[in-house]
Amino acid sequence: MNLVLFGPPGVGKGTQGMRLAQEEGLAHLATGDILRAAVRDGTEYGKRAKAFMDGGKLVPDEIVVGMIEERITGNGDAGFLLDGFPRNVAQARALEAMLDGHGMHLDRVVFMHAPEDALIERLSGRLICRACGFSFHRQYSPPRVAGRCDRCGVELYQRDDDRAEVIAERLKVYRAQTEPLLAYYRDAPGFRQVDAAGEMQAVFADLKQAVED
Ligand code: AMP
Repeated sequence: MNLVLFGPPGVGKGTQGMRLAQEEGLAHLATGDILRAAVRDGTEYGKRAKAFMDGGKLVPDEIVVGMIEERITGNGDAGFLLDGFPRNVAQARALEAMLDGHGMHLDRVVFMHAPEDALIERLSGRLICRACGFSFHRQYSPPRVAGRCDRCGVELYQRDDDRAEVIAERLKVYRAQTEPLLAYYRDAPGFRQVDAAGEMQAVFADLKQAVED
């Protein structure tokens, strides 16, 4: 199974996508994680991407598309779950061309949605593990030991782009560039929609059903 999760920042694509990929045996391909690793490692792509990411803007398509192609085709028989890609219609077209070229296709495209005040609350309280990338929330899902990951004990940090002014810009960019994907994918046979405003377990159950039905 090959699937795309899309929706606004803070809707839970990362948290839910990580778990779903694990349960379904899929490669979890999150362009945000791949880009952050490139920035951390100081690669050429990372150096070019950093200013866009810090400002809450989209990184230019040619950087992201190039990074994703090798990963999509390098999974053997296991399928993939794309989280954070495509993020605009040009990327969706590039993805389609890429998949066509390799005799592959998407089985599901799942749109996750939640009201904007919930997204802002989730993003501004979010803490992330430096090692495994698992997310916590200061109020809603705090770690057992303050500042440390429950899974691996490594330090938690707040993403630079989870500051209030950058959150506002990311939501603006989402509305202008990513939301149009809804019209692009809505009539596709594998399109599904999941209300992600509720509690984490309930959302996960809905998401699982959306990909398995
Ligand atoms: P995320 O971790 O998905 O919230 O992504 C963090 C940042 O990485 C975004 O705000 C963008 O700057 C960049 N980014 C991630 N995925 C993409 C993409 N598909 N296209 C362009 N920029 C991206």
